[in-house]
Amino acid sequence: MTTPESPLAPTDPAPIAPLRDFVVAFGRLLDERPVEARILTDGAPLLAELVSRDNWLPAAYAAPHPTYYQQYLLHADSTERFSIVSFVWGPGQKTPVHDHTVWGLIGMLQGAEYNQPYVLDDEGRPRPSGDPDRLEPGAVAAVSPTIGDLHRVSNAFDDRVSISIHVYGANIGGVHRHTYPEDGPPKPFVSGYSNTTLPNLWDRSKDGRRSA
Ligand code: FE
Repeated sequence: MTTPESPLAPTDPAPIAPLRDFVVAFGRLLDERPVEARILTDGAPLLAELVSRDNWLPAAYAAPHPTYYQQYLLHADSTERFSIVSFVWGPGQKTPVHDHTVWGLIGMLQGAEYNQPYVLDDEGRPRPSGDPDRLEPGAVAAVSPTIGDLHRVSNAFDDRVSISIHVYGANIGGVHRHTYPEDGPPKPFVSGYSNTTLPNLWDRSKDGRRSA
């Protein structure tokens, strides 16, 4: 049981304010109906600001699983223009090679991860494209069918948890996508989410606002 005084208590709305501010700012960016390139260039600094501090993510959405990396939905836009997900990587955990089919931004919150881009060879098999990027806290990377949509993400550490915050141009947990095995055809998948409840972004009772 947490107390109201605890700065990271899930029931305390104040620490979540950076995520609410990000949701509002990102929604305003999309209200301008920008092309994808501008979403990525103008959205990246918004995400960089969000992941510049790691004290706002409630513990329930930062919890690792001993076997599987976790993907917790933090917010879905009301018309599903974008979704925000915390990815929690246990020691040594990694994704298969996969696509997204929509634009995505990856912001590193805690720890570090490797982001290895892939391309398909003439036989449709995934091959690494260049060296992996090592993302440190505060760093932001992008994916999309336009700029390169296939990658594998790995926790850079085999002895601690890493957490990244991802933003996608759809309700990503319901998008029909693919993984790309080394020696077989692409496999369809729909990721879903690891959680069934969302953080409450909208309790403004501690904002210090006065009622009219
Ligand atoms: Fe991905």
